[in-house]
Amino acid sequence: MESRTDSAIDSALSYGRIDVGVLVIGAGAAGARTAIELVDNGVSVDDVLVLGKRNHGDAHTTWARGGINGALGTHDAEDSWAIHAADTLNEGHHINDPAKVETVARQLPDRLRELDEWGMAFSRTEDGEIDQRYFGAQSFRRTAFAGDHTGESLLDTLVDQAQQRSIPYRENVMVTKLLSDGDQVYGAVGFDMADGEFLLFNAGTVVLAAGGYASLYNRHTSRDDENNGDGPALAYDAGASLMDMEFVQFHPTGMAVDETDPDWEPWDGRLVTEAVRGEGGRLYNADGERFMKRYSPDQMELDARDVVARAIAQEIAEGRGTENGGVFLDISHRDRQFIQTRLPRMYERFAGLGVDMAEEPVEVAPAAHYGMGGVVVDDNGETEIDGLFAIGETMAGVHGANRLGGNSLAETVAFGTVTGRRIASEGAEPGALPDSIVGGIAEPHMAHLDALADSPGKYDVDTVFTELQELLWEHAGILRGGDRLSAGLDELTRLQTKASDLEVGPITSESFEFAMDLGFMLLTAEAVLRGALERAESRGAHYRTDHPDERDGWRRNITAKRADLGGMALATEPVGSPSEGVQAALEEGHKLEYHQLE
Ligand SMILES: Cc1cc2nc3c(=O)[nH]c(=O)nc-3n(C[C@H](O)[C@H](O)[C@H](O)COP(=O)(O)OP(=O)(O)OC[C@H]3O[C@@H](n4cnc5c(N)ncnc54)[C@H](O)[C@@H]3O)c2cc1C
Repeated sequence: MESRTDSAIDSALSYGRIDVGVLVIGAGAAGARTAIELVDNGVSVDDVLVLGKRNHGDAHTTWARGGINGALGTHDAEDSWAIHAADTLNEGHHINDPAKVETVARQLPDRLRELDEWGMAFSRTEDGEIDQRYFGAQSFRRTAFAGDHTGESLLDTLVDQAQQRSIPYRENVMVTKLLSDGDQVYGAVGFDMADGEFLLFNAGTVVLAAGGYASLYNRHTSRDDENNGDGPALAYDAGASLMDMEFVQFHPTGMAVDETDPDWEPWDGRLVTEAVRGEGGRLYNADGERFMKRYSPDQMELDARDVVARAIAQEIAEGRGTENGGVFLDISHRDRQFIQTRLPRMYERFAGLGVDMAEEPVEVAPAAHYGMGGVVVDDNGETEIDGLFAIGETMAGVHGANRLGGNSLAETVAFGTVTGRRIASEGAEPGALPDSIVGGIAEPHMAHLDALADSPGKYDVDTVFTELQELLWEHAGILRGGDRLSAGLDELTRLQTKASDLEVGPITSESFEFAMDLGFMLLTAEAVLRGALERAESRGAHYRTDHPDERDGWRRNITAKRADLGGMALATEPVGSPSEGVQAALEEGHKLEYHQLE
C-alpha cells in the first residue's frame, strides 16, 4: 500500500510511504529466487515487494558467465554433494561455515533441475542432459552452464517466473538506510532515482540481496555502478556484523588492454571467463613460457584462482609481462567451431576488437572479482537483527578464504530458497513501524539527503571515488603488507574527511547516486583494511607479504561490528566442524586429475 506523507520536521519535505510484509532489496538472482520461494510457500504477492536500482531483469547477475555448480554427475557419476562441499571447504581454506556450504551443495542438484524445468537455456550433452564442465579447483565436471552467458540466462528465467506469479517489482529505487533499533528491523528509507521522491518502507521483514563489494578496487570485473558494498554497509549501519571482509578474490584473467586506445580502454579489467581455461586455455608469459608449470605443475591453469592470480602478478612484477601489463591466454589450439560453441560471448567480444581467438592469444591480468566476506547470518540467512536477512553476494560464510568459480550463483539460488521458505513459515505481516523510528531515524535521514542534494562542496565525487579505488588496489591488493595496510587506513581517514565536503548534483543526478555509493564504499573499505591488517597470516585470497604462511591459530573468522561508542570493533570467532559425510569426503582427498583436461 502506498501513501504520501508530509514530514513533521520540515514542511518542504514529503515522502511516499509503502507498507509491505517483506521488502526484498535487490533483484539479482538471490532477491528474485527469494521472492519466488515466498510466494510458492503461501505468502501473498500483495505482501511482497522486490526493488532494485535498475530495471527489472537488469542486475549484476547478468554478467556471470561461466556457470553454476551442482553435483548432477552428468559426466562424472562419482561426484556427490559431499564432494562438492569438500572442494568448497578446501578452496575456502577451511574457514567457511560448513553448515552453509552443506546447504548450498545439497540443494544445488535440485535447484538446477528446477531451473531446467523453468526453461533455463542450459547447454546440453548430445543426449540432451544438462552439460557440465570443469572449473578451477573442482574434483569433477560439476559446472552447469548456458554457453558463457549463464548469469543472464539464470536471471531471465527467474524474472520470467517472478512475472508469471505477478510478484511486484519497483525499478530505480536506491535504498540508503535500513530502519533498525539495533535489535529489530522495521523497514528502509530510499529514493526514486528517476523522480527524486523520498520513500519510506514500513516492512516487518527485510531481505538484503544487494550484491557485493569488489568494485572497491580500481581494477575490477564488476559493472561500474554495482558491487559498491551497499549490502554490507546497510546491514552494518543497522547493527549487524560483517565477517571475512579481508578476503577479496582477484580473478586471474581480467582483460589487459592498451589504455591509450579508446576502443580498448573501456574493456580494461573486464572478465575473461574462467571457462576459457576450463576449455583448455593456456597461459604464457611474454617470453613464450607456459609459466604455470613452475607454480602448479599438477593443476596448471586450473589451479585455484588465488594461486593463478598470484602467479600472473609475480610474472608481471618480475618483468615477464606484456606491454599492456598482462600475460597471454591462448586457446587457439582448439578449433574455431569449438570456441564459437563453448565460448560464444568471449569469441564475439574479441572478434569485435579485431582479435581472433581461434588464431591468436588474448592478454589478461588479475582484477578484483568477488568479496568473499559479507553480513553474518544464521543457517536461514537471518542476521542478528530480528527480521533482517542477508543473502547472495551480500552474505558471508559460504566461501571462506576463497570462492570456487560457479559457487556464487549456486549460493544465490540455494539461500534464496532457504530464506524464502523460512520467512514464509513465520508469516509475512506488515511491519509496525514505531513513530520513534520515523521521527528519530527515517525523517532526519531524509532531511540529510535533502540537504546533500545540490551541495556546492569542495570535492568532486568522481575524483574521491577513484582515489578510494586506487587506495584499495595499492594498499589491500593481491600482495599486502602490514605497513601498507596501516598507511591505507590513514589515507582512508583523509578520504573520509573529503567525502564530508562533496560537490553533489540534484537527487536524480549520477553524482548523487555516486555520493551514496561512496558512503557505502568508505565503510566497506574500512572493514577490508582493518580485517586484512588484523589477519597476520596468508590464507586463500589474502596474501600478507610479511606473514606468507597459513597459521593454524588463525583458523578463525574476523568479524566487524559498530562499537557502542562509535568506531569499528573487530573480534574473532571459531569455525564450525563439517558433518560426518563431508568430513569423509575431505578425507578421501579428491582432486582434479589434470590429464583429464588435455
Ligand atoms: C564478471 C563476473 C562474472 C561472474 N561469473 C560468475 C559465474 O560464472 N558463476 C558464478 O557462480 N558467479 C559468477 N560471478 C559472481 C556472481 O555473478 C554474483 O555473485 C551473483 O550474481 C550475485 O547475485 P546477487 O543476487 O547476490 O547480487 P546482484 O546480481 O549483484 O544483484 C544486486 C541487486 O541489488 C540491487 N541493489 C544494490 N544496491 C542497492 C541499493 N542500495 N538499493 C536498492 N537496490 C540495490 C541491484 O540493483 C540489484 O538488483 C561473476 C561475477 C562477475 C563480476
